[in-house]
Amino acid sequence: MATKKKSGKKKSVKAAKGGKRAERKVTRAKKTSAKPGSLAGTNPQRVAAILTKLDEAYPHATCELKHENAFHLLISTILSAQCTDVRVNQVTQELYKKYTKPEAFAYANPADLEMEIRPTGFFRNKTKSVMGASKAIVEQFGGQVPRTMEELLTLPGVARKTANVVLGTAYGIASGIVVDTHVLRLSERLDLTRNDDPKKVEQDLMAVIPQNNWIQFSHQLIWHGRRVCAARKPKCAECNLEALCYAPDKTV
Ligand code: SF4
Repeated sequence: MATKKKSGKKKSVKAAKGGKRAERKVTRAKKTSAKPGSLAGTNPQRVAAILTKLDEAYPHATCELKHENAFHLLISTILSAQCTDVRVNQVTQELYKKYTKPEAFAYANPADLEMEIRPTGFFRNKTKSVMGASKAIVEQFGGQVPRTMEELLTLPGVARKTANVVLGTAYGIASGIVVDTHVLRLSERLDLTRNDDPKKVEQDLMAVIPQNNWIQFSHQLIWHGRRVCAARKPKCAECNLEALCYAPDKTV
């Protein structure tokens, strides 16, 4: 009898725990769906107001990777994966004196190149990408960095983010929106997307941002993310978007 009573008690404790878990799940689900109005973040007036504020704060935002031509911008962008632009610029300052043209990278000594780009991290994979992309540019594109998304995506180590950087910054072609870690975080905080996959986020942004703003919008969000809306402790008191922002992790 005593054993039975005990197991009954156990069952009721289990049931209570299970109930609480279920409740927490429901609460979480409610919280998610309770984000202010499913379309609130992307109504055209709000989006236009965000763009105006970004223009006011960053009228001259641009890519912070130093480069003199589309090819060097492509290489710098490949090197910038998981690395700061400041570090990449330090490395490329010397690198581009030695490797001026795609041929130089394409037929470089891989061991030398690995050591030269080592400070940017992931240097073995980056060496493969840099050499592979350079070789394809020399052998398939006549030494010129291609000007279309489709062609750029055929280059080793090049995905949409890198291709958008090159097309937008080097050629002024608005092929899409650069979605890096800052654009990802800020798009979510500003409720311009409910997705967290970069490809889906880019599609969401392209649907609500006018195409003639795509290039500048990417630069401005990246600048804002670096200067004000940091991942940890965003400086909301200094943010000119504060009145438009209802991010749950706002600091004011
Ligand atoms: S108010 Fe804060 S969280 Fe919102 S965009 Fe500005 S800095 Fe980022």
